[in-house]
Amino acid sequence: MAATERHRIEIAGTVQGVGFRPFVHKLANELGLNGWARNSLIGLSIEIEGDATACATFLQRVSRDAPGHAVVRGVSASPQEPRGDSDFMIRRSGEKQSGNASAEIVPDLATCSDCLREIFDPTNRRYHYPFTNCTQCGPRFSIVLSLPYDRERTTMRDFPMCAACREEYGSPIDRRFHAQPNACPDCGPQLSFTDAHGRVLASREEALERAAQAIEAGQIVAVKGIGGFHLIADARSSETVSQLRIRKHRPAKALAVMMLDLVSVRSHCELSSLEEKAIASPGAPIVLLRRRDSDTLPDSLAPGNPGLGVLLPYSPLHHLLMRRLAFPVIATSGNISDEPICTENDEAFLSMRGIADAFLVHDRSIARAVDDSVLRVTAGRELFLRRSRGFTPVTIEGNHPPVLATGGDQKTSIAVSGPFGIRCGQHIGDLETEPAQQVFAEQCLDFPSICQVQPQAVAADQHPGYHSVRMAEEMGLELIQVQHHHAHVASCLAEHHIEEEVLGIAWDGTGYGTDGTIWGGEFLIANQTDSERFASLRSFPLPGGELAIRQPRYAALGLLFEAGIAVKDTPLASAFTEKEIAIAYTQLEKRIRVASTSSAGRLFDAVAALTGLRWHNEFEAQAAMDMECMAGPDGSRFTPLELRDQILDWEPMIRALLEDLSHNVQVPTIVARFMESMSDAILLIARVAGKKTVVLTGGCFQNALLLERTIARLREEEFVPVWPNLMPPNDGGLALGQAIVAGRKLQSQSAHTHVPRDPRKSN
Ligand code: ZN
Ligand code: ZN
Ligand code: FE
Repeated sequence: MAATERHRIEIAGTVQGVGFRPFVHKLANELGLNGWARNSLIGLSIEIEGDATACATFLQRVSRDAPGHAVVRGVSASPQEPRGDSDFMIRRSGEKQSGNASAEIVPDLATCSDCLREIFDPTNRRYHYPFTNCTQCGPRFSIVLSLPYDRERTTMRDFPMCAACREEYGSPIDRRFHAQPNACPDCGPQLSFTDAHGRVLASREEALERAAQAIEAGQIVAVKGIGGFHLIADARSSETVSQLRIRKHRPAKALAVMMLDLVSVRSHCELSSLEEKAIASPGAPIVLLRRRDSDTLPDSLAPGNPGLGVLLPYSPLHHLLMRRLAFPVIATSGNISDEPICTENDEAFLSMRGIADAFLVHDRSIARAVDDSVLRVTAGRELFLRRSRGFTPVTIEGNHPPVLATGGDQKTSIAVSGPFGIRCGQHIGDLETEPAQQVFAEQCLDFPSICQVQPQAVAADQHPGYHSVRMAEEMGLELIQVQHHHAHVASCLAEHHIEEEVLGIAWDGTGYGTDGTIWGGEFLIANQTDSERFASLRSFPLPGGELAIRQPRYAALGLLFEAGIAVKDTPLASAFTEKEIAIAYTQLEKRIRVASTSSAGRLFDAVAALTGLRWHNEFEAQAAMDMECMAGPDGSRFTPLELRDQILDWEPMIRALLEDLSHNVQVPTIVARFMESMSDAILLIARVAGKKTVVLTGGCFQNALLLERTIARLREEEFVPVWPNLMPPNDGGLALGQAIVAGRKLQSQSAHTHVPRDPRKSN
């Protein structure tokens, strides 16, 4: 028999809240090892004692056979003096722990198949219980108050476990062994159904039934879910859809639809195997799918769009409701347009007054708002448009100084870095409204705190008008401002761990440039530290400034003005009254209320307006979306952009486009030619930039057509195209880029404290 050994093992990574301790317990028992395991600030601490061969096997299998949702990032072991333990125990986490925290909080996980079976099994004690969960599923990030992840530091602390639940929780052979949110009908959270004023009308199962009846009757019911409220209503009825749109002040933007199961999804939408995998994943995101021609759901769910955002039920509550209803429902964020999603009952009763006819609520608090994630399968991969519930926090490994990155003012999300890497938080939203700014301020405190990071510096955009920049300035930390498009490119470099210098293409709507104008059609030579503007689209004036963002017709007017083309000679003339044109021309000529931009997003808008596709945007990027939906197959006879002095000139292309219009060439063909010209422009620059790796990012690359076509063309010429796969290409990915750039700056500062800073360096 081999000698007795004892080892202290530290496991780093996503190992809390995923059934790791039960797994370790089972493994130790199987191998006849004694000792203990407990959650630590970096993950899990274990001590094992026993036969040397068994110890070696344990060390091997502890990472190899880890539970499905665990991510083991590191295992370190050190020999100890044997102590003669008589069993293997799961210890409670110590109250006071110090050191660098890197234990990762798991995202909220959709109901697993075992739990699902139980809630529909009449003989099970959790039959129809809407808060059923286990070590493989249930709320996590949305209930965590602080670390380490234990019940008393989650919003489940309000629910002392009953004897039966406690037994499961304490039994190493049970799949609820140390499942922190464990609950049952006797001890856990409960449902209530209330009227529009929050007066309770029914509770428990009857509450669910009343909510279902209300939805069947065409009412709009606010339902408290995992990370916040949804507004739920019958998706089959166009009257209900228009009612919801009116009440929510959301005239045109697509509404997400929840469907019972994959069979139902397939009956309404095309579903590729990758899309199926995404929609049924434990993150349970909204996936943008193409609707079947035969689909009978109202077009008004996503006007003018062949796509539909679909999600599956992801908590027992949603499963129970969907099973009862058996028809698709609208499941849109419970908020007023552009405000943050509601999380508290009282707040919901107030802010959704006049929107919801009734409420289905429960008494488990939501620790932080976590909106649904949105993705789309593009270029053979998942492309996140919003990374949030089920997918955050997400950590990009590395070793960085402690920085808080505040992102931008649109689609805001924040990130923190530390010795564990860079951790990105959930979607916060646009910072235009006061409630959104409030949530943002809270997140700037909450997120570093639950990541147990004390920021040494704060990273922000350079836009003088951004709320996020003002907030960063007020934090009293060293402020490192990162140019918007560099942050876009660096974000992609960070997630792909690319250290080399690349050609970074950042195309978006608006980003503050180093020259004080609005950039957005940028070609940067960049790495994780620095960037230099290599080329850009030719700038054009935007009459009315911000107005041009909401009204593509003004972007088109500015574009024509820059090119010296009289608007009266184009179809755009019909988009304006003569007075409007006169005012705009006065502004343009005298440069009053005129912003200059090199934005690719505005160029897309301008073309949408010129072709008559869209003169007014009802929501951000609507015109660009129309173009993607509209593009025809034939882009072969496109007119290239011309490169002069590192400026890409669109004028020849626009003139050709107007020619096409005057010869009655079909709009889908014109749009296809425009898209091809834009892809071609990227190739033009790639050939002269001399970098093999080409990053494609910025909000414009949410356009699948542009992204896929550009990737294909770059590959044909043996470039290596890289685009964001973890974070969104839009401003939701900025914080990650800011964090890496700021971290690199701090590192080089501390490495060269005696060397004066290079004055040529931007940012
Ligand atoms: Zn489960
Ligand atoms: Zn119980
Ligand atoms: Fe941007």
